This record gives sequence, structure tokens and C-alpha cells, in this order.
Amino acid sequence: MSRPTSAIIDLQALRENFSLAQKLAPNSKSMPMVKANAYGHGMVEIANALADSAPAFGVACIEEALALRKANIKQPILLLEGPHSADEVGIAEKHGFWLMLENHNQLQAVLSAQLTTAITVWIKLDTGMHRLGFQPEDACHVYKQLTNSPNVAEDIVLATHFACADNLKSNFTYQQLQSFEPAVDNLDGSKPSISLANSAVILGWPSIQDDWQRPGYMLYGASPFSEPQENAEQLKQVMHFQSAVISTRFIKTGESVGYTANWTAQRNSTIATVAVGYGDGYPRHAPNGTPVLINGVKCPLVGRVSMDMITVDITDLNTEVEIGADVTLWGPELSVTEVAEHCGTIGYELLTRMPARVPRIYINAK
Ligand SMILES: *Cc1c(COP(=O)(O)O)cnc(C)c1O
Repeated sequence: MSRPTSAIIDLQALRENFSLAQKLAPNSKSMPMVKANAYGHGMVEIANALADSAPAFGVACIEEALALRKANIKQPILLLEGPHSADEVGIAEKHGFWLMLENHNQLQAVLSAQLTTAITVWIKLDTGMHRLGFQPEDACHVYKQLTNSPNVAEDIVLATHFACADNLKSNFTYQQLQSFEPAVDNLDGSKPSISLANSAVILGWPSIQDDWQRPGYMLYGASPFSEPQENAEQLKQVMHFQSAVISTRFIKTGESVGYTANWTAQRNSTIATVAVGYGDGYPRHAPNGTPVLINGVKCPLVGRVSMDMITVDITDLNTEVEIGADVTLWGPELSVTEVAEHCGTIGYELLTRMPARVPRIYINAK
């Protein structure tokens, strides 16, 4: 007795993807990004699965970091957006969180905090993404204030984030590097560690090497590129989002399916109804023709996505489809990227939006 819809999470695939990230940058430490519930995969389970090999974890906010501590994760945890208020500096000290500082309020909060142990900070530079970070020309001043503060531990890391690294033909990544490198070279002889690479850089820009890489999406086995890419092809999709057929029916030419009757059969058709909908994170704006695997064969979604169900045209399947037949929404045999492209979005969004309603089932724990 249970609804047949779940997300099967393959922890062996996760570990292999993490090994690939480490292999591609052997001189770099590799910090798994587990923000947003580990991109929908379950933050605590994912962190636990990598806890033997990850030197630290990255999250978006202190609430996520505290949840990892509560689950007994021992590693340092980097808050990628830094403290959202001054009181978070003291909490970071208490729990061993690292702070990515990106603006002057955060800098002042660290410098003026009453701490008994020094905390680790990273400095984020804005080299062209124009979302977060200090200006590269301010790097030296910020760095000096931090190195002179008793609140700050010795190993300060300088970081930046690339806007267009998923486009392997774009020049923008090199432009950003050209703005980053002089900032690091002008620190009066100090040579701090640097952190540059997200998944797209790790996979697609091997000439960009750093001390700390920050893989996120690739750990979950999806490619950040819209074109085939050699390294990305080695990734193994971690999530298999699956369900089952719960009803089938024949409809005649000219009959329509679903809310708003937005799909009309051009021939006599067989329709399978599947127990998954936008209430499970399947995108409501998935258009007619979005691929769904029924018994392992690609079939087109037809009709609007409902809250709890979708409808699929199985007319061209040679085999009989019984109630209970296997359905894959995305997984190792159907990439989340392909589904996302049909829906005018990226796999990141489909994965991170998956709600708690979908049970996560963990396999290959070790
Ligand atoms: C989320 C995030 C990453 C990981 O990006 P992916 O594209 O998922 O690899 C890296 N760095 C920062 C600052 C991030 O916020």
C-alpha cells in the first residue's frame, strides 16, 4: 500500500561523481555544495554519504549549516552568502562555520564581533557576475583588515564565481579571470588560497585550477552544459524520479485530454495516466511532447500536467501497458537536462523544487 511515486537516490553514483570532481582537479580540495536540500536530494543523507571524503561542505545560509550540525556532520561548513546579520558571526564561531564575506556590513560584523576563537573567512570578489562580492580593487584593503584582526584565522581564501562557464565558447570566463588575477597578485606579497570552480568550470575549463573547488550540480550527476561534453558524459544521474501507470484508456480522433483540453488526438489513441503531477515537482509548464519513459520507452506527455497526475500518449508502444507499469520522469535513462529543456528551464530548478511529498529512497549507502 503506497503511492508508487518516489525519488530513488543512488549514493554510489553520488560518490563516483564526487570522485570525478576530485580526479579532474587533483591539486584542489573539493567542497560539495549541499545547499537547497542538496539540490533536492536530501541534505543530511547526501552530506553523510560524502562525509568520509569531503573536507568541508557549502550551504546558502546558517539554517542549513545548523541542520547539518544537528545531524552530526563534523566538517567545516561554508556559508556561501556570508552572515545575514551580525549575530550569525558568533553562531559561526560556536559551530565552526566558515563565512564567505561579500560586503562591508559583513566585514564590519566580523571585525567588531566579540570572539574567543578566530574564525575562517573567505573573501568573495565580484569579477563580473555582479550579484555578490567586493570590487577586485578593494580586495587588498579588505584582506589587510581581515589579516590584522584577531577574530580571523590565518587561511583566508579569495573566491569568485563565474557567470557563463556553462557556455564553453564564451569569452566571459576569461574576462572574469583577468579581473580576478591582479586582485590576488596585489596583496603585498601574501599568497592566499583561491576558489573559483563550480561544476561547469571543473568539467569544462581544465586550465582553470584553484585550491578549493565548489562542485554542486555535477555531484548529482547532471551536466551543466546543453551540448555533449566529454567529462560530463562520465557523470551518473543520482536521482531516479519514478512513478507508475494508474489507468489507461482509448480515445477517438478529435477527443481531447486534460484540463483546458489543450491536446486533441489526431488519431485513435491510447492514453496512460501516471501518478505524478506538479504537486510532486513535475513542472506544470511541461508542454505536449515532453518525454516520459513508460516501461523504459520514450513517450510524449499529452495534455496539461495536473496536481497529482499526468497523461502520456502510449499509442506507439508495441507492448501492452498494464496498470502498475514503470514510469520514469527523469533518471539515468532520461536526463533531467533533457526534460528541463522541453520545459524552458534548467535541471537545477527541477531538482531543487522537488517537494517533501515525494519520498526519497536511498540506495547503495555503501
Ligand atoms: C551553488 C554554488 C556553486 C555550485 O554551482 P554548481 O553549478 O551547482 O556546481 C558554487 N559556488 C557558489 C558560490 C555557489 O553558490
